[in-house]
Amino acid sequence: MNNTTGGTPHVLILGGGSVGMTVASQLRKAMGADVAITVVDSRPYLTYQPFLPEVGAGSIDPRNVLAPLRKVLAGTKVVTGSVSEIRHADRTVVVETEGDAPLEITYDHLVVGLGSVPRTLPIPGLAENAIGFKWVEEAVTVRDRVLSALAEAASTKDAETRKRLLTFTFVGGGFAGAEALAEVQDMVADTLRYYPDLHASDVRFVLIEAMGRILPEVGEELGRYALDQLRERGVEVKLETFMNSCENGVVKTSDGDEFASELIVWTAGIKPNPVLAQSDLPLNQTGRLDCLADLRVKDENGPIEGVFAAGDCTTVPDLASGEGKVCVPNAQHATRQGKRLADNIVRTIQGRPLVDYYHKNLGTMATLGMYKGVGTLFFGDRKVELKGLPAWAAARAYHVYAMPTAEKKVGVISDWVANLVGGRDILGIPESTEPRKAFELTAASTPKKG
Ligand SMILES: Cc1cc2nc3c(=O)[nH]c(=O)nc-3n(C[C@H](O)[C@H](O)[C@H](O)COP(=O)(O)OP(=O)(O)OC[C@H]3O[C@@H](n4cnc5c(N)ncnc54)[C@H](O)[C@@H]3O)c2cc1C
Repeated sequence: MNNTTGGTPHVLILGGGSVGMTVASQLRKAMGADVAITVVDSRPYLTYQPFLPEVGAGSIDPRNVLAPLRKVLAGTKVVTGSVSEIRHADRTVVVETEGDAPLEITYDHLVVGLGSVPRTLPIPGLAENAIGFKWVEEAVTVRDRVLSALAEAASTKDAETRKRLLTFTFVGGGFAGAEALAEVQDMVADTLRYYPDLHASDVRFVLIEAMGRILPEVGEELGRYALDQLRERGVEVKLETFMNSCENGVVKTSDGDEFASELIVWTAGIKPNPVLAQSDLPLNQTGRLDCLADLRVKDENGPIEGVFAAGDCTTVPDLASGEGKVCVPNAQHATRQGKRLADNIVRTIQGRPLVDYYHKNLGTMATLGMYKGVGTLFFGDRKVELKGLPAWAAARAYHVYAMPTAEKKVGVISDWVANLVGGRDILGIPESTEPRKAFELTAASTPKKG
C-alpha cells in the first residue's frame, strides 16, 4: 500500500494519540491536499488519558474522553490495525489488521507516536489478577467493579467475602495511581449514603508505593499534603513497600501484610511501547527513540532522514529546563511536540530550516476527588502552588481546554453539570464485559429439538 501519488509526499503517522492526532490535523491545516497522510492506530479513537481518573469515578461518561479519529481527521486515511514492524531501510511499516494478511505501508516521512505501556514486574499473580489504568476500558471496569462490589457486599452475610469485596488496592503512587485512587475513593465515600448496611470503616483502600513519598510530580511539600489528605480520608498508604505477590487476588506486601482484595490496580509507572524493538530504528538504554530538539530521530551519526518522533516513546531535550534535561512523558509535551513536529515536516518538504522544540512547563495538576486537588502553576518564572478547591478548579479548566474537539468539551462539561444537579451515577454494570452471558444461559437451557 503506497499513498505517494504524482509527487505528493506521503506522511505515515504511527499512533493516533496526543502526538498522532495533533500532527495529522496540523499537517492537513498547513498543507491541505499537498500532502497525503495516513494514521495507523489499533484503536479507532484517541483516549484523553488525563480524564481517566474521572471516568473511573463516574464523573465523566467514558465516550466523552474519546475523540474518533475518522471524524476529527476527516480527509485523512485512518487504518485501524496494529503496527508490528518498522523497516525504515525499505521505508515500510507492517500493520496487522483483523482477518487479513499484514499490510505493508510505504512512506516518504515517518512519524512515530506510539506512546507507552504499563511498566510491569514479574510479580506472582500480577498478570492474572491486576488491571492497568491507561485505557478507557480499564477505567470503566474499575468503576463497574467497585460499584458492583459495594452492592454485593451490602447483600452478603459472610464476613470474609464482605471484607474482600470492600478492599481495593492500587500499586504506584505517581500521578496516575494517586489520582485514580483518590477519585475512586471519593466516589465510594459519596455512594455509601445509599448503603445503610455499609459503614465507611468497612471499606479499605490501600495504596502501595515503593518510594518514601507520593505524587513526586507536584513537589515535596504538595506531595506530603496529598499524602496527609488521603490518610485523613482513611486511605491506607504504605510507603517504601512492595507488593510481593497477588496470587488468587490475595495481596502480600513487603511489610508482612496479607489480605484478599477485590481489585488490584497497577499504576507503577510506564515504559516505551515494546513494538519499537521490532524496528531497525536505534533505541536508547530506556528503549526510547532518541530525538534531536527538532524532533528528528537520531543515531550516533546524527539525524536519520525521514523519521520524526515525539511523546511518551521518545527522549527529547527539554531546552526550556536547561542543559542535559529531557522532556517528561506527559500530554502537555506530547501535544506541543506534535505541533512543532508537524511544522518541521512542512519545513522539510519546503526545504526550509527546522525549528527546535521549546516549551516552558505550564505546571502540574492532579484532582483528588470532588473539590480536592494539588498542583503547581508556572507564570513565566513565577511558581504558584495550589491546594484544595483552587487546584481542583484549575485542573478541570485546563483539561477541558486541552481535551480535543468542541463536541467532547461540551460533553464533559454537561456530565459535570448533570452530576451537580442529580449527583453521581452509582450504577456499576459488571456484565458489560460479558454481554452475552444472560442470553447464553437462556439459550443453553432451551430444550433441543428431537
Ligand atoms: C491515568 C493517566 C492520567 C494522566 N494524566 C495526565 C495529566 O494530568 N497531564 C498530562 O500532561 N499527562 C497526563 N497523562 C499522560 C499523557 O496522557 C500521556 O503522556 C500522553 O497521552 C502521551 O501521548 P502519546 O501520543 O505519546 O501517547 P498516547 O496518547 O498514548 O498515544 C499512543 C497511541 O498509539 C497507539 N498504539 C500503541 N501501540 C500501537 C500499535 N502497535 N499499533 C498501532 N497503534 C498503537 C495507541 O492506541 C494510542 O492511541 C496521564 C496518563 C494516564 C494513563
